[in-house]
Amino acid sequence: MKSATSDLTILGGGLAGLTLALQVRQQLPTARITILEKRKHPAPEAAHKVGESSVEVGAHYFASVLGLKEHIVNEQLPKLGLRFFFPSGDNSRIEDRLEVGGRRYAPAPSYQLDRGRFENHLAERCLAEDIRFVDEANIKSFAIGRPHEVTYLRNGESISETSRWIVDASSRRAFIKRELGLEKDSPHVSNAVWFRIGKRIRVDDWSDDPEWQQGHEGELGRWYSTNHLMGKGYWVWLIPLGSGSTSVGIVAAEPHHSLSDFNSIDKAMAWLETHEPQCAAKVREHMDDLQDFLAIKNYSVESKQVFSADRWGITGEAGFFHDPFYSPGSDFIAFANTFLTNLITRDLTGRGIRIRSFAYDRIFKKFYYGTASVYHDQYQIFGNPQVMPVKVLWDYLIYWSLTGFIYMQGRMCEQTMYMRNLRKIIKLGNMNHFMQDFFREWHQKSTPTEAHGLINLSEMPIIKKFNEQLLEDFNSHQFSRIFKERVQQMETLMWEIIDESGLTPDVPFPRKEHADTVKGAFEHIFAATNRPSEPLVAVESR
Ligand SMILES: Cc1cc2nc3c(=O)[nH]c(=O)nc-3n(C[C@H](O)[C@H](O)[C@H](O)COP(=O)(O)OP(=O)(O)OC[C@H]3O[C@@H](n4cnc5c(N)ncnc54)[C@H](O)[C@@H]3O)c2cc1C
Repeated sequence: MKSATSDLTILGGGLAGLTLALQVRQQLPTARITILEKRKHPAPEAAHKVGESSVEVGAHYFASVLGLKEHIVNEQLPKLGLRFFFPSGDNSRIEDRLEVGGRRYAPAPSYQLDRGRFENHLAERCLAEDIRFVDEANIKSFAIGRPHEVTYLRNGESISETSRWIVDASSRRAFIKRELGLEKDSPHVSNAVWFRIGKRIRVDDWSDDPEWQQGHEGELGRWYSTNHLMGKGYWVWLIPLGSGSTSVGIVAAEPHHSLSDFNSIDKAMAWLETHEPQCAAKVREHMDDLQDFLAIKNYSVESKQVFSADRWGITGEAGFFHDPFYSPGSDFIAFANTFLTNLITRDLTGRGIRIRSFAYDRIFKKFYYGTASVYHDQYQIFGNPQVMPVKVLWDYLIYWSLTGFIYMQGRMCEQTMYMRNLRKIIKLGNMNHFMQDFFREWHQKSTPTEAHGLINLSEMPIIKKFNEQLLEDFNSHQFSRIFKERVQQMETLMWEIIDESGLTPDVPFPRKEHADTVKGAFEHIFAATNRPSEPLVAVESR
């Protein structure tokens, strides 16, 4: 029996564990950090894990906070934002579907990550930074204590080690959550399958209509986006990978679709033929290059607690995961790892963590549940071309106003920021919950009619402005001012959406008018989606 003592032992060396180690290393150059990972390295490219698409926070965390930009720019792919195609006819002509997406890269970048390639790079970086990365280490047990103790099997040998801090990054194995009885059922019941094809599948090639193709030449190809094919209760993803493969996924919520209808490659292809025949036909052309097929039932997971003053923590899917629709997994890794790095650094440099660990745990969960209402019970709206594009835009703007803005401004662990802006944060959160209920009500009371054309996000000033401001360097005074403006702007937008819908919400929200600059910001969307009988004047019509 060998033994070693670490300051920090991380259970599981996937995305969350490897990035946490690198972030802690930045703050503590001499800390003894160990990562125990069951799988053998290097990991295979393409057919490794899901979590390939990043949005602004995750992208900022990887590229800027962890300093991995060079690898990402050279070895991975840029992402031309999120792109959505809404139902039209039998979904056999992509050019007939209402499209929501940009024609230019947004100021705040995002990326498509081949997970095998990325984790191999992260592990190499860890080794180069004197982080002990032990692969083929199958963790068997652990005990929370002072110090904590972990036992794992490696090459047939049982090894026990002690550590001051222990962080669970083992994803669904969820060591700490299970051991401490912290599991919590998620009300969101949804399932997914995915597979990788060793070829590029480009939506750009699905139509030879020159007008439809215009503006997407070269590096502006639509295939650089995370493409979402939308339908009632489901969406299908198409994500390109730097290794040349394409990741394809079907995500569908109960009760609209049952996993047993698409949980093998044959059934998934039959399901695609029914709901997304054009996609099915394009995938079929490359079935010889099928690289894997995986399914997950009921992927939403929650935890009663994620950080403790007893020097343990949980990050990644070992704690919370709600839904992949807006690719938020990496964002929540960034949030958890940033809180944990702050706690571990404070503790190892002799500062207190009791109040902070309690506060961070509460804030993390508030952010999680604030985001959860965006997905929970909302899959029924996904195929509605009137309501869903408006919801998508609202969801973006809330994300860039609240969690995205706080994180990218580097203020996630700043107590004074919360004290100064608490009422505004709560108000934004309440408006969002209210609007999520409203979108559902609007959907239930509307009769969806087909809409066509393009809602070009690159041309919407409000999208550009909110996105650009993520990158600006605001001092705390400016931050609070912008935050206040955001609350007013979102409130204006909220009432514009409600007024446009013509509905009176079942549950009232106090009306307060603001004369501000975003009035009319959604006019083009309403024109494209809400008045199909009028001539189509989407931001860009075809
Ligand atoms: C369908 C679906 C789609 C998703 N799409 C996205 C997306 O597009 N973008 C996004 O950001 N997120 C996405 N996510 C979330 C994404 O999966 C997570 O962001 C990310 O993979 C979680 O990283 P992790 O480190 O927690 O888990 P992992 O990367 O899986 O790491 C956990 C590690 O623990 C190790 N481990 C397990 N048991 C043991 C043991 N006994 N001993 C030692 N090691 C062990 C495993 O080998 C593994 O390497 C998606 C999730 C789902 C379900």
